[in-house]
Amino acid sequence: MNIVIKVSDATKKKMIDYYQDKKRDKEIPYVVFQADDEDTVITMYTSGKVMFQGTSADVDANMWKEMDGQANEKGKATNDQKYYYCSSVGSDEVGTGDYFGPIVVTACFVSKEDIPFLQELKVGDSKKIDDARILKVAPQIAKKIPYRSVILSNKEYNQKYGMNYNMNKIKAILHNKVLYQLIKEINPEYDYIIVDEFAREARYYDYIKDSTHIQTGITFMTKAEDKNLAVGCASIISRYIFLKEFDKLSDTLHIPLVKGASSQVDKIGEEVVEKYGQEKLEEVAKLNFRNTERILKTIIF
Ligand code: MN
Repeated sequence: MNIVIKVSDATKKKMIDYYQDKKRDKEIPYVVFQADDEDTVITMYTSGKVMFQGTSADVDANMWKEMDGQANEKGKATNDQKYYYCSSVGSDEVGTGDYFGPIVVTACFVSKEDIPFLQELKVGDSKKIDDARILKVAPQIAKKIPYRSVILSNKEYNQKYGMNYNMNKIKAILHNKVLYQLIKEINPEYDYIIVDEFAREARYYDYIKDSTHIQTGITFMTKAEDKNLAVGCASIISRYIFLKEFDKLSDTLHIPLVKGASSQVDKIGEEVVEKYGQEKLEEVAKLNFRNTERILKTIIF
């Protein structure tokens, strides 16, 4: 699939930022950057046009179209309300963009009666909430909202990645796992099951086809963290667990780790290798990230 969209200068800037760490090294005439994001290749042209190629190209393109304020469905507002004011199961993940630390996926059940309480807490996308507030709000949510989480350690992640799992497949397997578990164990009365869309529906089910139990009936949508409270809660609880795990890692290494995948992260990675050897990265970082190459290139053994 091949999709071309045109975005504003503001969105262009955001995209350049977002794909910074996923950029290919090769320079191409009239191309601002070309980047790989799991199943999708993104090419931004100097003209402001952006091309998305791959099986999930429309998912990525839609995300940026929405970010750019270009509505892509009629009656979207009312549709979105439908997914907000309802009883729902939703899941979301954290840590997939961070070189250090695990991946955490959580599924939550939010019943209609919980909506005012969650609105009061301003539940939404954890990416937009600072860490201090996450640490305060997540325990309050967790006390009231049923949830199930899974933590994928760096070691397990690196083993999986070596076996030809890509990030989206790993995400799909973990989402399926917590959704199935939550629904099976608490048997909630829900109107929708909502997952923040990271792959097309057919692709998602293809990724989990070898799982023992498969949760079906999912509604996929982009930016679900803001459109559905169960996904919002899942986002916050996942983030909370990630922060705790991240602190534990920093403590055991006696090195304050840095989130994300920037050049600052490379510096910390160099410190880890100098102090504990190259093998340590396997336990604390996602080896397939470009950071690994950069870190090992700088180190003189
Ligand atoms: Mn998400």
